[in-house]
Amino acid sequence: MHQAIQNILGDKRFYELLLGFDRQIADAAHEGCCQRCGAKLHSGSYERKPRGVPAGLGPEHCERFSFCCAARDCRKRETPGSLRFLGRKVFLGAMVVLITAMQSGLTPARVQQLQALVGVSRRTVARWRDWWCRVFTESPFWRAHGALVPPVRTADLPASLLKRFTGDIEQQLLSLLRFLVPITTGVGLMRAI
Ligand SMILES: [Zn+2]
Repeated sequence: MHQAIQNILGDKRFYELLLGFDRQIADAAHEGCCQRCGAKLHSGSYERKPRGVPAGLGPEHCERFSFCCAARDCRKRETPGSLRFLGRKVFLGAMVVLITAMQSGLTPARVQQLQALVGVSRRTVARWRDWWCRVFTESPFWRAHGALVPPVRTADLPASLLKRFTGDIEQQLLSLLRFLVPITTGVGLMRAI
């Protein structure tokens, strides 16, 4: 399991896949119109500086797709959901999911490997765990969508949630990231850590 997770986090193909999903979400959003005034939307993507992204990926992997209302007196920003950027967290959502999921069995050697791979500290991982156990579980999103049968053990989040999705670990991760899209932006956006 740990090796499979490390493979995914170092796999450029996986990041291309996530980028493709985000493009689809963004294209669908672009076809819509401003929710405040109904005008068209212009592209207003901006640069993020995600940490831990493998070297050799293009600048588009740091681009947060976003739009601005074309009406001069409105200019409302519309940022669609994302499988890559989990709110304002500096690490990509896939890392926040996978590394927290594997943290319970982390030996010092594993922590060193992870630090080398994505540059994450043990303290950051502890903060992520706290975010999953407290901020996430107390959110309106989880109250609305977390009533799974049988109930998910919240102390084991996000590993317990990952296991509810079918397929191999990569498919489970993709399903979970899709599930989380509503909390990556807008009114569902959750407190950053
Ligand atoms: Zn507008």
